[in-house]
Amino acid sequence: MSFVVAIDGPSGSGKGTITKLVGEKLGLINIDTGATYRCVALATINKGYKLEEESKIVSLLNEIKIEFKKIEKEEKVFLNGKDVTKEIRSKEVNKIVSQVSHIPEIRKKMVDFQRKIAEGKNVIMEGRDIGTNVFPNANVKIYLDATPEERAKRRMKQNKENGIESNYEEILENIKFRDHNDKTSNVAPLKKAEDAIYVDTSNLTIEEVTKKIIEIINHQFGDASKIGKN
Ligand code: C5P
Repeated sequence: MSFVVAIDGPSGSGKGTITKLVGEKLGLINIDTGATYRCVALATINKGYKLEEESKIVSLLNEIKIEFKKIEKEEKVFLNGKDVTKEIRSKEVNKIVSQVSHIPEIRKKMVDFQRKIAEGKNVIMEGRDIGTNVFPNANVKIYLDATPEERAKRRMKQNKENGIESNYEEILENIKFRDHNDKTSNVAPLKKAEDAIYVDTSNLTIEEVTKKIIEIINHQFGDASKIGKN
């Protein structure tokens, strides 16, 4: 049996943290689809390709291997065998990832990859288009949101915890820029799936959101604690 919980929403809406916590509680495999686009963006930077050089960026698809591995209880992302978990969150990657993710060939290959890693498994998958495009038949769909200012604050905190230096104004600007890019994309615009449940996390703690999501899953599915045991 395969069970899919789709968590979509803009950057900084709390998707990453919440998906991880709910996944752990319910025994679902956590898949961060943003990390797949971040790997392509990092490979673009490493090769020195410019955003205008689309065909060169697309050619990277034949050269890159992305893997998700759990090492000592930590989810790690590997690009061509190298642990890039931290590197893919850099300012440089943030700057170009949105544009890279909207190149149709990149998107197609990443979506295929995301579907493949979820095959036959019970997963909680976070991204922008999971409920609308990657898994339109997901068992449960949730759209997480928060104000840009609240999301920028969270990103600051997260960066601090990861030892990444950052500036509030710069982060806020980047969040607004990515929101605009993601929402107006021709390829797979960020939008709530019609049947997704909207959750505004602006004034909720991580624990409150986690609880709420588990309640939603329980309500839609029955006893969520049994999912991971099937
Ligand atoms: O979620 P995260 O902020 O790591 O995603 C990085 C970027 O990847 C987003 O700004 C968005 O442009 C893109 N993305 C996407 N579709 C997804 C996940 C992420 O287009 N499913």
